[in-house]
Amino acid sequence: MTPPQRPGIVHLVGAGPGDPGLLTRRGADVLARAEVVVFDHLANERLLDLAPPAALRVRAGKSVGHCLLTQDQINATLAEHALAGRTVVRLKGGDPLVFGRGGEEADYLRERGVPFEIVPGVTAGVGATAYAGIPVTSRGVASAVAFVTGHQAPGLGACGSPARIDWPALARFPGTLVFYMGVTHLADIARALIDGGKPAATPAAVVESGTTPSQRVVDGDLASIAERAREARVRPPALLVVGEVATHRERLAWSESRPLFGRRIVVTRPREEAARSAAALEAMGAEVLIAPTVEILPVEDFAPLDAAIDRLGGYDWLVFTSTNGVRMFLDRLLARGRDLRALGRAKLAAIGSTTAEALGRYHIRADLIPPSFRSESLAEELARVGAGSRILLARADRGRTILQDELRRVAEVDQVAVYRNADVASIPAEVSGRIEAGTVDWITLSSPAIAVRLHALLAPEARSRVGRDVKLATISPVTTAAANGLGWDVAVEAAVHTWDGLVEALAAHVAGARASR
Ligand code: SAH
Repeated sequence: MTPPQRPGIVHLVGAGPGDPGLLTRRGADVLARAEVVVFDHLANERLLDLAPPAALRVRAGKSVGHCLLTQDQINATLAEHALAGRTVVRLKGGDPLVFGRGGEEADYLRERGVPFEIVPGVTAGVGATAYAGIPVTSRGVASAVAFVTGHQAPGLGACGSPARIDWPALARFPGTLVFYMGVTHLADIARALIDGGKPAATPAAVVESGTTPSQRVVDGDLASIAERAREARVRPPALLVVGEVATHRERLAWSESRPLFGRRIVVTRPREEAARSAAALEAMGAEVLIAPTVEILPVEDFAPLDAAIDRLGGYDWLVFTSTNGVRMFLDRLLARGRDLRALGRAKLAAIGSTTAEALGRYHIRADLIPPSFRSESLAEELARVGAGSRILLARADRGRTILQDELRRVAEVDQVAVYRNADVASIPAEVSGRIEAGTVDWITLSSPAIAVRLHALLAPEARSRVGRDVKLATISPVTTAAANGLGWDVAVEAAVHTWDGLVEALAAHVAGARASR
């Protein structure tokens, strides 16, 4: 007899309106355990990174007007995987139950005995409006809000449900009206409301791709909004907001005024660092494209590293030049059954504040951080305080040798490769394509190796755009020199040679360019 199968489950998860940061923690938890993810085109694809690499990803591709996978096929896919015992996440834009057919999917699953969970999400009517600076209710201005489908605009039938809207009743609704799926019928909607008695001068706004870096908002009133949206070529997904609250944008439009709002920025750092690095840019409103050019790998032969760890007691200084070095060295030390006491009396040097923070995560403090976060400055400081001592450099298998060269003059120096810095074979086609098309604004470079590798990976047409219409921002003078050596001009160089320093320099440059326009 075959043992009874462990029952699967379907989690119907709201992905939020676009900004990946708006996913709930529960949503992230279930995604992290998913074996199958069935996702809508409205759900931000970046969220798929939260699922295990081995999870099956199924693009439902369902959106208004594009019924690519029919609802029946989606339902059947969900049930089939769950009945086979798998953990399934059905990732839907916004909230699964607000114009999302999540209720129908749940019904279908219930009828077949498939367990399900519903994880709410931030619906566009609340999320996109908030990012546009429009409070959907406001004391004394709007005491109610109605979410309405614009799908069934007056006189239209569509590939959806049969419900009809009572337009005269909506026109009399005492509060804010938020229309979903209405962009293509804006003129009909506005006309129906005016015909129903709503004043033509009622403020209105259309929010396109709200909460994303391409968010756009068109303002007007009921009489003008359709024409203005048409002129601005507004595309789905977009919401129509009707009511006094639309004017609050004049004061509250916070997201569009963030320092890097709408800037399209390529991050070329290794994948381990890219997500954290992207977050700093995204918080300032940028669209980030991740294209690692090098990857961080464990060393192939651990013997030299293990020997260095066992000899630690004999060193006066242990020197780290990257966060990866800290992580790989200390994780190996712990994995060998040792603990921090293995560091003995050795003092610790970190090349900069970020590397020192990495040490801090292991509850140890750097004894030395040079004033300028680069090899030259670290060599100078160490030569001063560490002359005549025994120094161990924990570093990548390749990179600049300046530290060792400088220190060997005054001290006894060993170095050990703690991790490998390997070249990736290619960068994502989308990113190279957009560099070539000039539809990104910036590329960030955080080391000479990354600059050289990016140059090698780009096709000549893309390469020739870099430094011109696609600007470069670098972390330090050596990286700038490497880019210059490849024939690329650099527009921004970080004054503080850390990722945060780079982001700050970039934001300051963009603000300066805006102000002088
Ligand atoms: N379940 C989703 C709505 C799906 S219907 C939710 O709760 O948000 C799709 C409609 O949602 C689109 O036609 C558009 O009107 C609206 N929408 C979704 N994402 C949006 C966004 N980022 N900006 C503006 N409108 C959005």
